[in-house]
Amino acid sequence: MPGMGVMVYSEDMDLELQLLGKGRELTDKLGGPLSAVVIGPEQRGADELIRHGADKVYSYKVSGLDLYSIETYRSALLEAVKRESPQVILIGSTKRGRELAPRIASALRTGCMTECIELEVDEGGGLLGRRLVYGGSALATERSQKKPHVATIPPRVFKRAEPSERKGEIIEMEMEPPRPRAVIVERRKKTREGGALESARVIVAAGRGFKRKEDLRLLEDLAEVLGAEIGCTRPLAADSGWLNEWIGISGHKVRPRLYIACGISGTVQHLAGIRDAQVVVSINKDEGANIFQASDYGIVGDLYTILPALTKALRRSKGKSRNPS
Ligand SMILES: Cc1cc2nc3c(=O)[nH]c(=O)nc-3n(C[C@H](O)[C@H](O)[C@H](O)COP(=O)(O)OP(=O)(O)OC[C@H]3O[C@@H](n4cnc5c(N)ncnc54)[C@H](O)[C@@H]3O)c2cc1C
Repeated sequence: MPGMGVMVYSEDMDLELQLLGKGRELTDKLGGPLSAVVIGPEQRGADELIRHGADKVYSYKVSGLDLYSIETYRSALLEAVKRESPQVILIGSTKRGRELAPRIASALRTGCMTECIELEVDEGGGLLGRRLVYGGSALATERSQKKPHVATIPPRVFKRAEPSERKGEIIEMEMEPPRPRAVIVERRKKTREGGALESARVIVAAGRGFKRKEDLRLLEDLAEVLGAEIGCTRPLAADSGWLNEWIGISGHKVRPRLYIACGISGTVQHLAGIRDAQVVVSINKDEGANIFQASDYGIVGDLYTILPALTKALRRSKGKSRNPS
C-alpha cells in the first residue's frame, strides 16, 4: 500500500538532482518524506542528494555491477520502494530509466506516465503529467489514477534545488545481484555515446545532403572547433549505417544551446527531437526546405562550400581571441 512522500531515482546524478527539485515541490503539497535512491558498486553521492533536498537516501552497494543488468536495478529500486512506500516515484528518462520505469510500475501493478515535461498533483490526489504527443506537435495531459504514481522525466526539464547544509538519513544497503534471466553474449564499444547527445550543449548534425560517408569529415572538423557532438537524421544511421545514433521522434531528443543542421530537410520526425534546442542554424541548398521554418538562422547554399568556410572562419576567430595582438 502506498504511503506518503516522493521517491526519485536516476543513475545520472545531475538528473537525479533535478528530480529532487521537482520532488520537493510535490512533497510540499502531498506531505511525507522526499527520498532518493543510489545504486552502484560503491556507496557514493548520498551526501550530495541530501544537500539538494533529499530527507532520506537509500544507498545500494551491489556487487558484480560491472556488467549492466536491468534486473539488478529493478530489484534494488523495488526494495527501496517497498521499504518507503512512496506515493509518487520519479525516474529519470535516460535509456536505462526508460527500461526501468515500466518494470517498476508493472511490479507494483500501477501505471507509468512517460516523458513528463510538467507534473502536478490534483485535489483528488491524482498525478497530472503533461507530455508531448504526435511528434511534439501537441501536448497531452494525463492523469495517473492509481498510487503509487510512476513517471519518467527527461533531463533538464526541472531545475535542481539550491544546495544547502541540511541533515538527512542515509540507509546503506548491500545486495547481491539477482540471477540474470538474460545473459550478455557480446559487448562492443560504440564510437559515440548517445547519452552524450542528450547532454550536449552544441550539436552539429548531418542529413542526406551528405553524399558519402567520408564527407562527414567536414562535420567532424566543425564539431572539433565548436566542441560539439555529432548527430544525424535517421536515414544516415538506420539505413546507411554511417553513424550510430540519430535524433528525432524514434531517436534521441536533444536540448542543446546550439543545433546546426546540415543538409537536413526538416521532417516532422526529425523536428520532434530538436524542439527544445535553444538556437537552430540550418544549412540547406533548397530555400524552401522545411527546416528553415524551425530555424533561428538559415544559410541557403551548398554544405560542401559552406561547412569548410564556416570551420575556417571559426578557427580564425578562435585563434584571434586566444591571441588578441
Ligand atoms: C516511423 C518513422 C520514424 C522516423 N523517425 C525519425 C527520426 O527519429 N529522426 C529522423 O531524422 N527521421 C526519422 N524518420 C525519417 C524521416 O521521415 C525522414 O526520412 C528523415 O528525417 C529525412 O532525413 P534527411 O533530412 O537527412 O533527408 P532528406 O529529407 O532527403 O533531406 C536532405 C536535405 O538535404 C538537402 N541537401 C542536399 N544536398 C545538399 C547540399 N549539398 N548542401 C546543402 N543541402 C543539401 C536537401 O535540399 C534536403 O532538404 C522516421 C520515419 C518514420 C516512418
